[in-house]
Amino acid sequence: MRPPGSKPLFICHAKQLLTMAGLPAPRRGEGLRHLGLIADGAVLIDGAKIRAVGGTAELAGEARRLKAREMDCRGRVVMPGFVDSHTHLVFAGNRLDDFERRIEGRSYEEIAGAGGGIQSSARRLANASVPSLIRQASRFLDQFAQHGTTTLEVKTGYGLSAAGELKMLEVIRLLRKAAPLELVPTLLAAHALPPGYTQKRHEYLRLVVTRLIPVAARKKLAEFVDAFCDRGAFSVAECRRVLKAGQRSGLTPRIHAEQLRRTGAARLAIELGAASADHLDKLSARDLRALARSSVVATLLPGANFHLGLERYPPARRLIDEGAAVALATDFNPGTSPTVNMQFILALACSAMRMTPAEAVTAATLNAAWALRRADRLGSLEPGKQADLAIMEVDDYREIPYYFAVNHCVMTVKHGRVIYRR
Ligand SMILES: [Zn+2]
Repeated sequence: MRPPGSKPLFICHAKQLLTMAGLPAPRRGEGLRHLGLIADGAVLIDGAKIRAVGGTAELAGEARRLKAREMDCRGRVVMPGFVDSHTHLVFAGNRLDDFERRIEGRSYEEIAGAGGGIQSSARRLANASVPSLIRQASRFLDQFAQHGTTTLEVKTGYGLSAAGELKMLEVIRLLRKAAPLELVPTLLAAHALPPGYTQKRHEYLRLVVTRLIPVAARKKLAEFVDAFCDRGAFSVAECRRVLKAGQRSGLTPRIHAEQLRRTGAARLAIELGAASADHLDKLSARDLRALARSSVVATLLPGANFHLGLERYPPARRLIDEGAAVALATDFNPGTSPTVNMQFILALACSAMRMTPAEAVTAATLNAAWALRRADRLGSLEPGKQADLAIMEVDDYREIPYYFAVNHCVMTVKHGRVIYRR
């Protein structure tokens, strides 16, 4: 529905319009290269939704008849807004000290062992007020919008206690009400074991299963349930327990898998029919083939590899060639990937993981929408879908990853409304 008094919007003369139009399925193999590109393209928006998509000449008559407000995008690329399907948006302070210690040669796990890492974020979160957490997250949300992101997933996971996790869920609930962007909430209570629980892991997991999951599901504070299945975090059996409890309560599972060590987490994702398995750095060849044959979206987070200074990146090329539905996300978080910029993630995907620019764009829009189970209304520009767009000051989409580390986005449209303009 169009708000009273507002006119339809006619975005026209795009040098390249990337529609991503096609069959309603995640893109795999060759399919990742099909952008549904229209030269001199146009999108006619009515209210929050897309009414028509096509060539400018083809749609001009209808736009005139509707007295649509015209927005000339000559010399620009118009594409679906980025869907960032993996973020840890809500945290207190930063991890600048960890950053410096790592530069001096300590590993991520050494820093975590010495009281840094997730535990230090948890201590800061415990001392932070809800308004201060909202203020910091809102500043980042403005930056996400400025870089062309229109939807992002947001995880809990720095609570490490019932009170802490409930506080994070409350912050996310308030942000969802106020933010112009769409936030998708995920309960990641099984992120790390709270201090003092080494000998009583079961107690914390029981709290997650019997208290946090039911509350998050009943009050609709989360849609997804996630777990960090890795060395130094939780085992496959523990994650199975958490994710299955989530499923019983109506939450869809997703999982942090095979980042530091091959654990079998990707197999667990397949077993449970998870929406996505994320990271996948240490995937075995057999896991890789199994994942490629499954419905689980393989979400790659190269920002973490970059920020941690790792030589190796997730096996994007092999995943795509085997037929996996590959998505890209920022993994925005204070410890391992403090970037809001999906355009930079595209650059990493191309330069460090040998994805083509077209594959990277598909992975960051349509396939990411599948990873969040929202592809019925997000991730492509097609009639009836939500009008979520990013307008880039380039005349070839390949310039987005090519001229890297620059913000090319000049306008972001969410629900048919301009939420950012440079
Ligand atoms: Zn993560």
